[in-house]
Amino acid sequence: MRIGIDLGGHTITAARVSRDDSGRPVIELVAEAQTPLGRGVPHVLSVIAGLVADLSAGHEAEGVGLAVPGALDALRRHTKRMSNFPKEWDCLDIPDALSRALAGRGLSMPVRIENDANCYALGEGAVGEAAALSDYVVFTMGTGIGCGIVIGGRLLTGAHGLAAEGGHVVVNGNAPCGCGGMGHAETLAAADGTQRRAEAKGLPSDFRSLWAMRGDPGADLVLNATIDGMARAVATVCHLLDPDAIIIGGGMSRAPGIARVIKEAAMPYLGLPYKETLDLRVSSLGSDAALYGAALI
Ligand SMILES: [Zn+2]
Repeated sequence: MRIGIDLGGHTITAARVSRDDSGRPVIELVAEAQTPLGRGVPHVLSVIAGLVADLSAGHEAEGVGLAVPGALDALRRHTKRMSNFPKEWDCLDIPDALSRALAGRGLSMPVRIENDANCYALGEGAVGEAAALSDYVVFTMGTGIGCGIVIGGRLLTGAHGLAAEGGHVVVNGNAPCGCGGMGHAETLAAADGTQRRAEAKGLPSDFRSLWAMRGDPGADLVLNATIDGMARAVATVCHLLDPDAIIIGGGMSRAPGIARVIKEAAMPYLGLPYKETLDLRVSSLGSDAALYGAALI
């Protein structure tokens, strides 16, 4: 069995993943803990090591995989920048540091890390909507827009480790993005940007509440910009990669009918052959996808 961990800004979730008789990965047990205030390295690693100790007690763990919310270097040892965590994380060889934290508890096992949206994509490919697909794209729609791309059955990581940032494709205008660029899909289409535009109009900032107001002219104005940003990103990855399917996950993907609405909005942007091939699905695994993927890296 292996252990997958999803490091979030508020919660750290860990899962014990084994394989059933047919070789299919199965989550056996999940444990979670609050991310320590301040998100400092020693405290966070100590919590992670504690979760690994709990889940591996009485079992032989073959390895642990950690999904981290940031871009990684090509060797998958350092983060380039985890924007919601202190800068001390970016100087750290994370697999090495976590191995030492585990050794402090008498545990020894290989440690690997991967970007959280990439883990989500691997999980969808292992047991989710992308099972049996060799070319697919996952967008995680939440506070930001994460993306993971699998091409020819392999995770796309790029020359510098920075590939598959589909949330940062240029879609419109020149509004600044949190990443340092401008005009990116995430600025328009993620929950944060949607919330800012909704609040400016005196509308509910919670995305699900706003989605329930569709038909109201004010709400539609805000939501149409969100959907348009996402539709342009979807069309762009279709033209670039010709995927079997595009899967959307994350909190916003739970809004009823959102995949159909994004698909319809993407149609005018798509060249003729792609209007036929676009297959847009909603993740069935939800947040378990990242846990599966982390366990399998
Ligand atoms: Zn950006």
